[in-house]
Amino acid sequence: MRLILLGAPGAGKGTQAEVLCKRLGIPSISTGNILRAAIKDGTPTGLKAKSYLDAGTLVPDEVIIGIVHERLAQSDCAGGFILDGVPRTIAQAEALEKAGIAFDAVVSLEISEEEILSRMSGRRVCGACGSSYHVANLPPRVEGICDNCGGQLVQRKDDAPETVRERLKVYHTETEPLVEFYRQRGLLRPVASAGDREETTAAILAVLGIEK
Ligand code: AMP
Repeated sequence: MRLILLGAPGAGKGTQAEVLCKRLGIPSISTGNILRAAIKDGTPTGLKAKSYLDAGTLVPDEVIIGIVHERLAQSDCAGGFILDGVPRTIAQAEALEKAGIAFDAVVSLEISEEEILSRMSGRRVCGACGSSYHVANLPPRVEGICDNCGGQLVQRKDDAPETVRERLKVYHTETEPLVEFYRQRGLLRPVASAGDREETTAAILAVLGIEK
């Protein structure tokens, strides 16, 4: 199964990718998590990417395309994968096509802008493993601590309200055209993402024709 999770920032891509990769036994690949790890480690890619993440704008396509090709070449991707947060531009989608990477479905998580703003203000992520939580909707078992690895939960710098507004603007201009791109290819599977995590997971499995 090769899947793309499409949707605005805060639509629940990361949360659903985590659940689906366990359920389907395939890795989820988040370019955002890869970039944050590169920034933390001070790698050349991290140094190049930092100013874009801080500003809420997109990292240049050639950097992203390089990261994705490298990651998809690893052996754990041989049986399928879930892309979370990539492609984010038509150029990235075309690069995947040109590389001969075909997808089974593109799940588009749909949610109102009001709900996005409320989700992002309460979002917390694990500084060590990248797992996502929400102070009200998806709290960890112990406040401030990751259920999966025991790491410290932090608020992402780019979840600050001004950066969120910029990220939404970028989403509308750069990423939303991908909805039409994949609809034309017959791959688009829209799923309402405003409910709780389990409801959205069930709706995704249903559009993919997978039994719960
Ligand atoms: P995310 O964790 O997916 O919300 O991504 C956080 C930030 O990483 C974005 O605001 C961008 O600056 C950068 N980023 C992640 N994925 C991409 C991508 N596919 N194309 C360009 N920039 C990206």
